Amino acid sequence: MKCPICLSPATTSYILYDDRYGYPGKVDLYACLKCFHRSLNVNLTPDQLLELYSRYYPRSVYQVADYRPHKPVSFIQAWFNGEYASAFRWVPENVRILDIGCGFCESLGYHQVRGCEVYGVEADENVKRIAESRSFNVYCGLFNSRLYEKNFFDVVTMDQVIEHISDPLETVRGIAQVLKPGGLFILSSPNSNGWGAKIFGRYWINWHVPYHLHQFSIKSMKEVASRTGLKVQKVKTITNSEWLCYQWLHLVTYPLREHPSGFWSKKGKLSLLQKIGCKIIMIIHKLKINHLITRLFDLLQMGDNYLFILKKE
Ligand SMILES: [Zn+2]
Repeated sequence: MKCPICLSPATTSYILYDDRYGYPGKVDLYACLKCFHRSLNVNLTPDQLLELYSRYYPRSVYQVADYRPHKPVSFIQAWFNGEYASAFRWVPENVRILDIGCGFCESLGYHQVRGCEVYGVEADENVKRIAESRSFNVYCGLFNSRLYEKNFFDVVTMDQVIEHISDPLETVRGIAQVLKPGGLFILSSPNSNGWGAKIFGRYWINWHVPYHLHQFSIKSMKEVASRTGLKVQKVKTITNSEWLCYQWLHLVTYPLREHPSGFWSKKGKLSLLQKIGCKIIMIIHKLKINHLITRLFDLLQMGDNYLFILKKE
């Protein structure tokens, strides 16, 4: 197996299974010996992909009345919660922005009140009702650079999306085309070289196979940038404290292979002991202990999540 980013040899680091929704089978996770990029060697057919995301991945039942755009927060509060883990928090005011994987337009609403001209891309068809009700310019489907003029956007963002894309090089090449010279591509993605993956091993929350196809390292992101006319301007590990809480819940509710998790999936079941474990974890979370742990590891730049800012030359 070759690293899909730098083409150096890669070896199996874990054999994993879907520990959230119970998709059948096992998957090899490969780690590149040179750039430390991790990737899955899965070649799902379009039919299998459709089945994976429609039958196993939870589909939303989002209602228009539930729409709440992200709100501005104070610096201290956002820092303590690890909210700067999200790319949208780094977008300047009064810019033309495209959010790829915009969910239910929460980020678009946030940018709009800050004077931005907003565009979105989202694969989940449920976004249509929200976008229509709020007159947001959202393309429902996968990102395609031909949808936009070249040199059009000041900023493009992707929050927890690049790891799902089968050919990230092609996507970033497209993003570079639609960015203006000097424009920014801001993205967040899990850090499989951080403390979490080291401590929790195969039980790390962000392997999330077979949905997460790529786990970027600083080296592999620099490689992607250099091949697409971008430059890595900033790299930080910033981790939302909620995710450490989810990690503990993931551990105590860890399912057998081909069984849905009682924490992640509505189809899963929890034993009495697991329910008690979850209650204790939630009490500990309220004491802000997860906040202190995530802030400490982020300060050491060993956190579970990367924030990258790439600039078009
Ligand atoms: Zn590599």
